[in-house]
This record gives sequence, structure tokens and C-alpha cells, in this order.
Amino acid sequence: MGEILQTKGRRPQKDHDLRENATTQTQNQTGIPLQDRTIDARSTDGKRRSGEAGTPWYETGIVFEKVQLEKKKNEYTSEELRARATEKIESLKCEYTVYTDGSTDHNQENGGAGVYIEDNCTGVRHEMMFPAGRLCSSFGAECLAMVEAVRWLTKNPGTAVICTDSLSMHSALMKNDWRNNTNLIVEIRNLMPSTNGKISLLWIPAHCDLPGNEVADDLAKRATVLQQGETPVSYAIAKARIKRRKWSPKHERAIETYGERRQPRIDIESKWPRSVRSQYARLRTGHAKELRHYMYMIEKVDDPTCTACGEDEETIKHILCHCPALDWKRIMLFTEPDASSYDGTT
Ligand SMILES: [Zn+2]
Repeated sequence: MGEILQTKGRRPQKDHDLRENATTQTQNQTGIPLQDRTIDARSTDGKRRSGEAGTPWYETGIVFEKVQLEKKKNEYTSEELRARATEKIESLKCEYTVYTDGSTDHNQENGGAGVYIEDNCTGVRHEMMFPAGRLCSSFGAECLAMVEAVRWLTKNPGTAVICTDSLSMHSALMKNDWRNNTNLIVEIRNLMPSTNGKISLLWIPAHCDLPGNEVADDLAKRATVLQQGETPVSYAIAKARIKRRKWSPKHERAIETYGERRQPRIDIESKWPRSVRSQYARLRTGHAKELRHYMYMIEKVDDPTCTACGEDEETIKHILCHCPALDWKRIMLFTEPDASSYDGTT
């Protein structure tokens, strides 16, 4: 992974810095003209990696950059990290330096997004805050900040470097996995072509006291207390919240089946073959499409009565435990200890 990232980290830089001249050389290597700053995602071995940028139908219009670190981040002092980040940002010589940051409280609640923009031509500073949702992951808040930064750039075209310390967002955008349908990632991708400028997306190390990043961080934190209003909840966060919720059956039959258990014994059931699991699920829910009780419920038959005995509704319980017409089958199937207590009446 590191190798791929590094390869991709270098390529766009070449494209970025030598945009006018690099085309021919890179074109020869890969056969793909480097139009519109699309990254070439083929690795050095020339093989295409599916789902990554560089596929012919995909153009982000983003150059992905990273502050390169030779050793682990915590082996640098914050001064060293700050110096590297500053050097990198200045080397890109952009009209706008944009810092984005997202924040949530500790419980995936009350998200806030902060965007801080320095206009390097006029010296004007822009500060923006956005509520990111009453339920929100830090990833979601980071993405919203990016959405708003890119949206601002669509209205204020110019070369820009957008700095983020969110490696997960940087990777998600760079990887361009078409299966990643996270709404905000899709929104960022959709907005990018409208920016009409050269956009670099630069990962910077967090907590290195880079002044612009500190401002964005502060804006994001302040945004968490804004009125959250109708901010939509992402699918990912909804899923995470549901998973986290304590499992408590409400349905009468489910309570009867599971009793005080905290959750189904997925650990045991997952080892069963699929056919057994689905049969078990039918037993549990009573939804057996072969039985008249169920067919009656879904209005496929007019009468739920057991076709074998005609005495009672044809439910799973009736078939397994009570149907007199199936007595002998029960004896055959349920041997010890149940058969020993069989008195011939039920
Ligand atoms: Zn019956």
C-alpha cells in the first residue's frame, strides 16, 4: 500500500510541476495522455489497478500530494513536521491555500466542519463553519469540510492547494473505488470538475501547529455547537449506530424465541450451511412459504387450515408438535428422549 501511495504521490507532482512538458514522457510510459491533471494510477509495473484513478472514464481533476515523511510521524518534532508542511505548501505556489478540518464530540454526535482559506494574491482570509450533523463521524465531518472547500473553489476559480490531515479521506478520494458510494465522497468528485482551476489535495500531518490548520481546527470545533437542523445522516453512520445499539427484540414471538439473550447466537449459526440457516430462520419467524398459515397471511390461499388433518391452522408449531395426521412422522423423527414420553394423543 505504502508503495502504491508513494508512486502515486510522485507522479502527480511531476504532472503538477512540469505540466507543460511532462505529457510526452508520461504518455509514452502509460499510453494515457495526462489531460486535466488526472492521475495515472498504473503502477510502475504498467499494470492497471482496477477501481483506481486513471481508468479512462474517470477524471477527478485533482492532484494528490502528501507531505513525505521518511520515518514515522512521531519520530519528528512538531517543528520539523511544520517546516516540511510549510515547504510543501509553498512549493505548490497556489493562489489559494485552503485548510479543511472536521470535528465531532466523542460520541459520533454533533459534527462540525471548518474551512479556512488564504487568498495569496490579495491577502484576504475566509473563514467558514458548517454543522455536519447531529449524528456524524469524524470522517463525515472531514468530508463535509472538503465539499464546502471545493464548492467555494467552484465559485472562486484559481489554483488551490487544499490541506487536510485526514489520511482516510485523502486515500478514499485518491483510491477512487467506484464501490465507495459514501455520499460526500461522491459529492466531492462531482464538484471537482467545476472548479476550473488546478487543485492539489495535500495531506499534512496533524497536530504540528501549522497556523492555517489550527484555524480550520478551531472553526470545526466551533461548528459542532451550531444548530444541526436538518443535516442529513450518512448511510455509514446510520449503519454504525444501528450496530452499536443494544439488541432488544420487541416482537412478541421474538421475545418468546430469544428470551433474555442479548443477541442471536450468530457465532454458532454462521457455521451452518446456508440451507440450514434459512430453514432455521423460517422456524424462528414462522414464515414458511410452504405452509398454509403463511400463504393465508400473504393472501395466496383463502384458508389457513391444515391440509393434513383439517383440524387447526397449518403453522410450523402445528406441523411439528400437534398435527394428528403427522404423529407417526414425529415418532420417526424425534426419537429419545421425546419419543419415550409420547403417549399417542398429541
Ligand atoms: Zn394438521
